[in-house]
Amino acid sequence: MQKTLVIFKPSAMERGCVGQILTRFQQKGLIISGLKMMRLDEAILREHYSHLVEKPFFPILLKTMMASPVIVACLAGVDVINVVRMMTGATNGRDAQPGTIRGDFAMSNQENIIHASSSAEDADAEIRRFFKPEEIFEWPPAYMDFIYSTLEIDE
Ligand code: UDP
Ligand code: MG
Repeated sequence: MQKTLVIFKPSAMERGCVGQILTRFQQKGLIISGLKMMRLDEAILREHYSHLVEKPFFPILLKTMMASPVIVACLAGVDVINVVRMMTGATNGRDAQPGTIRGDFAMSNQENIIHASSSAEDADAEIRRFFKPEEIFEWPPAYMDFIYSTLEIDE
């Protein structure tokens, strides 16, 4: 089953909305395959945000991503990368649709609550960046037949 990476950024940690957001993912029917708390350092952030290192806002982004510990989650589901991106909403919380996580919890382009992988290639690299293989669990829950048709999970 497809997997994606979510980071509960310091904006979620400081504002105490991790539980509410994790509940949304669980309510949707996504499976938690990995979950842990960690501090991010400059080296991992330079790798994770390599597409942004030349941007003028990068030093401030680095600082805010290191402002508190974060929680990283690996979520599993059919088409989960796209589903989680849709649930996350536009980068800028002010542009994000109401009903999305950023639309409901964020007013900022930077302090936007969570990171979510944006492609299959990124998800694969990001899961390996933040989790050891033994920290990812394959455990199709007993209720799977009521989340998907068997035709959907056989793919
Ligand atoms: N970011 C920012 N200012 C910008 C654009 C991005 O501070 O003008 C931060 C923001 O926290 C964003 C992260 O950099 O979530 C990664 O940017 P990306 O374009 O990959 O957006 P995302 O995939 O998070 O929607
Ligand atoms: Mg991105």
